[in-house]
Amino acid sequence: MIKTVVFDIDNTLYSFDRAHAAALEALISYAGQKLRMDRETFMSALKETQQRLEEYIGDKAAVHNRTIRFQHLLESRGLPLHPHVLEMDSVYWDTLIASSVPSPGALETVRELKKRGIRIGIGTDMTARVQFRKLEFLGLLPYIDFFVSSEEAGAEKPDPALFARCVEKAGCEAQECLFVGDNRKKDVLGAQNAGLKAVWYCPKGCHAEENVPVITDLTQILQMTDTGVIKETKIPLSFADGGMD
Ligand SMILES: [Mg+2]
Repeated sequence: MIKTVVFDIDNTLYSFDRAHAAALEALISYAGQKLRMDRETFMSALKETQQRLEEYIGDKAAVHNRTIRFQHLLESRGLPLHPHVLEMDSVYWDTLIASSVPSPGALETVRELKKRGIRIGIGTDMTARVQFRKLEFLGLLPYIDFFVSSEEAGAEKPDPALFARCVEKAGCEAQECLFVGDNRKKDVLGAQNAGLKAVWYCPKGCHAEENVPVITDLTQILQMTDTGVIKETKIPLSFADGGMD
């Protein structure tokens, strides 16, 4: 019986890819006007910075911290931190959040889960503050009972530590939690490895695999939990060529 549903945020409750593209365009425009860097130079500096930080920080929430990313970019180019580091951070996140829209069926699903008395949690890689800003903007925060970020857990998905913290906060057994996410390895296999039930959210469709239930629409979670058991075989699935892993 499913007592708690835990959601990933990015590319699950909203399209990060679409919002990130808009935020990147705003940053490119800032860099052109304020840093005198053209698109190609800025994009290459950003990529180099990101790669360096991935090696330096590793799989921790700080690797997603845009303040640190922009700080390193400016330092590496000998550019002043004032006022750019905070301005770039605002340009990026304010644009990304303003460009975010809830995934189809997200609000309907969380409202119905609440009505059924199912607890709703968040299990997300990223720093807490910006994730709360997203949930607030998307109108989803009022429905959330608990929240676990990789910043809080000290580890990123698929590390079992993050899922264990979710189960602890859910207040039920691991197998009574259903984790929903767009990343097969991090969300689905990570949750299953920690003893939770899991479902792979693939809005464009992806190849089904044994033991990896797939949904293309978040409202399908309601079918999976309406009797408290996962009814994998009754979920209508559509598959496109190629996975999203
Ligand atoms: Mg995700």
